[in-house]
Amino acid sequence: MRLFPLFADLKGRRVLVVGGGAVAERKVKSLLACGAAVTVGAPEATTELQQLHEQDVIQFIPRGFEPDWLNDIWLVVAATDDKATNRLIAGLATEKRLFINVVDDPELSTFQVPSIVDRSPLTIAISSSGHAPVLARRVRERIETLFDHSLGPLVALAAKYRTAIRQSRPNMRSRREFYDWLLDGPVAGALRRQQPLLAEQSLEKELAQTPTPAKGKVVLVGAGPGDPGLLTLHALRALNEADIILYDRLVSPEIRELARRDATQICVGKTPGENHHATQERIHQLMLEHASKGLFVVRLKGGDAFVFGRGGEELEFLRQHEIDYEVVPGITAAMACAAYAGIPLTHRDHAQSVRLSTAHFSKDTTPEDWAALAREKQTLAFYMGISQLDWLPGRLIAHGRAADTPFALIENGTRMNQRVLHGKLDELAVQARQHDFKSPSLLLIGEVTALAPKLQWFGTSIASQEVTSLPCESTAL
Ligand code: SAH
Repeated sequence: MRLFPLFADLKGRRVLVVGGGAVAERKVKSLLACGAAVTVGAPEATTELQQLHEQDVIQFIPRGFEPDWLNDIWLVVAATDDKATNRLIAGLATEKRLFINVVDDPELSTFQVPSIVDRSPLTIAISSSGHAPVLARRVRERIETLFDHSLGPLVALAAKYRTAIRQSRPNMRSRREFYDWLLDGPVAGALRRQQPLLAEQSLEKELAQTPTPAKGKVVLVGAGPGDPGLLTLHALRALNEADIILYDRLVSPEIRELARRDATQICVGKTPGENHHATQERIHQLMLEHASKGLFVVRLKGGDAFVFGRGGEELEFLRQHEIDYEVVPGITAAMACAAYAGIPLTHRDHAQSVRLSTAHFSKDTTPEDWAALAREKQTLAFYMGISQLDWLPGRLIAHGRAADTPFALIENGTRMNQRVLHGKLDELAVQARQHDFKSPSLLLIGEVTALAPKLQWFGTSIASQEVTSLPCESTAL
């Protein structure tokens, strides 16, 4: 964010507007609407500005700009159509540490005037940092349609009862529930129907009821693979209600941005080799500690919590400690990466089953297990595979998978920087190294992956021909 958003109280404070044309007139009107004391300086002014002067609503200096106009004012707006004059005013204003807006000139300006959705006392301001005002206005039009005009009186009502609400709902969670009820319930409905008395009565009635004490709970939320558009509505709701968010390293910043602003976010991701990150034990303790205090805890995991996410262990722990929980499924990496790489996981002709597997095998994986993994006409999805590429393909080939079986390696699936590498199984390790594929990457092996180049629709795709292929050694059994 380049500009710091700010709502300024200009009531009774003098603001200088240099220029007397239509643009200046618009600025003057919005300044007056906020109670500013306005001085306009220009050799000529519009009829309306002259009238405002005659009615003593504004001061008017009927001359070209003079530096001493900058004395004893709080803000400057330069709206002349002469670039040199605007530059001069901007220079002098900046010298005096006065904030200045030069209309349509972000370079000379030290503050910008945003587009506004006015639901007073609630105001929504939209800014493109002065670079694309037309686009900002389009965005404003869309936001206008999201909130009807009952929002203004609703906010005013909430302001009137703020102290009473605080007193009757001292607990933050019950207070939030009350405000949710206010936004979505009968009070908003009555205001929409132009029945303000009824609205106020139902607010008072609800306020008089004793709220049931909030009981803490944990919601295990699958955040999906990275693209925020892949969150479920339940996940979004949980993020909006959370007091505490315990998130994994794989959860993208864009998704965490969607959470309630005053929720406390704690990173509990486990990075290999970094011992300062929390252990599973610490995660359990944090869930217990916060839920026991009556707080709403969201345990936010990449993909789905029940696919290589230790979600089962966390639920067992919560059950053992009698903490209420819910589970919101997420889109797991295999499904998401396949979709964003144009790879159908099953296909009538090419694959009748899909296996989700970790590339970290335990010592007791038997030759039979390998033979089953190496069978044709199935799709293998390997999680956590990037460090295992030197031996994994060879092991599959040794157990009977054809060396020319196609694969697709998807790095940062569904994110802006997604890359997909595809080629033949025996070239996998060399290619992945050559193109420097890193974690998080998902490996798909099987005939269906050959469709990727044809069906690709998102991000970058790298085909095997682009590298010199070296044969991969078949690893001994
Ligand atoms: N619970 C998660 C998986 C956690 S294991 C899920 O359901 O997706 C972590 C592994 O998931 C990574 O090593 C990688 O193999 C895979 N992964 C997760 N997000 C990914 C992404 N955006 N792109 C590619 N692979 C991803």
